[in-house]
Amino acid sequence: MIRIFILALLGYLAYRVARRWVRGKIVSSRVGGRTPGRIDDVMVKDPQCGAYFARRDGVTLRQTDRDLVFCSRECRDKYLAANFPSGA
Ligand SMILES: [Zn+2]
Repeated sequence: MIRIFILALLGYLAYRVARRWVRGKIVSSRVGGRTPGRIDDVMVKDPQCGAYFARRDGVTLRQTDRDLVFCSRECRDKYLAANFPSGA
């Protein structure tokens, strides 16, 4: 009996995730510069530690050719220390 309940719960969760995913796809395909509030939810990868996180939660490092986004200031500082050693 418990098993059926768990299966139903899993089905419900999968349905919710699928629905959110579909809605996210619709939103992102609609974004042509109109709804800037939602596009911040895009997931990006931290170039320093490799973690994935929402872009709006990240720390942006502006560079001449591109913007890098890190999950935290520590990662940004580590990246800077590794790539731009002070005094070099
Ligand atoms: Zn990181």
